[in-house]
Amino acid sequence: MPKSTSLWLDTADTVATEPLARDATADVCVVGAGIAGLTTAYLLAREGRTVIVIDAGHVGHGQTAVTTAHLSYVIDDTFKEMLRLHGPDGARLARDSHARAIDRIETICNEEHIDCRFERLDGFLFLGRNGKVEELDEELEAARAANAKAHRMPDAGVLGFKSGPCIRFSNQAQFHPLQYLYGLAGALQRRGGQIYSNTRAVEATGNSEAQVKTLFSALEKQAEFVEKLRMALEKFGHDFSIIKAAERLEERYADLAASVAEKLKAMRK
Ligand SMILES: Cc1cc2nc3c(=O)[nH]c(=O)nc-3n(C[C@H](O)[C@H](O)[C@H](O)COP(=O)(O)OP(=O)(O)OC[C@H]3O[C@@H](n4cnc5c(N)ncnc54)[C@H](O)[C@@H]3O)c2cc1C
Repeated sequence: MPKSTSLWLDTADTVATEPLARDATADVCVVGAGIAGLTTAYLLAREGRTVIVIDAGHVGHGQTAVTTAHLSYVIDDTFKEMLRLHGPDGARLARDSHARAIDRIETICNEEHIDCRFERLDGFLFLGRNGKVEELDEELEAARAANAKAHRMPDAGVLGFKSGPCIRFSNQAQFHPLQYLYGLAGALQRRGGQIYSNTRAVEATGNSEAQVKTLFSALEKQAEFVEKLRMALEKFGHDFSIIKAAERLEERYADLAASVAEKLKAMRK
């Protein structure tokens, strides 16, 4: 779970999925049910691939749950930096790929009837406290070289906030990321895609016999416990109180192992 609270988590129904409790086969196994993983899985399923998505936690509870939800082709690292690193062709490619990603989200919303309040709007880049106007002018020039629709303005005109000089980038977007993601998960499932939560990938091997090995979160807790036990014993040696504490932990470990065994049995019925 993210450390910060999330508006998106509080205002969207969650997607309930089970852990993967058996061996399973598919054309592709996607690790991670955030926006990147689910988009990849959805696009593969549309092309007729069988897809299994696993997530160590819950669908959409990673970074996607705490995003600011701006869909933007304005690169965080600035167009000026893109030009410096990759030249005009590279900067244009980066802008185009971001713009096409926004278009793709809009298309998916329409085709899959996902009500996530997707809307097009302008984005504004303004100066920080000690920023210089020349920085904005350089960025405007770089943005235009990268094919971005950018206009210099004296103020963003946002109610209650004086931005000062800024650049307006048109045709950005915003949406409710988790309403979108949950809609996308539904669209994937309708195409036969399988999604499993609380299923952590611990190892992946490639080639034609590619495999992803997973671990239940309960088992993971046991492993963490054993590690803590070992570290405590190593650190404090054979002190009586430590041995007692270790014994208590060992009992806890046994309880956990029993509960996992029961869980597995129930899932296999
Ligand atoms: C505060 C903040 C604001 C942001 N604002 C914006 C913004 O306005 N616009 C924008 O475009 N981007 C923004 N971002 C970035 C954006 O949120 C991320 O780039 C995006 O959500 C990443 O999606 P993802 O699917 O790659 O990762 P995630 O959403 O984190 O999903 C990854 C998933 O993988 C799972 N996972 C990890 N390891 C394993 C494993 N071993 N086995 C199984 N599952 C595993 C995790 O549980 C998680 O659910 C922001 C990010 C933050 C933190």
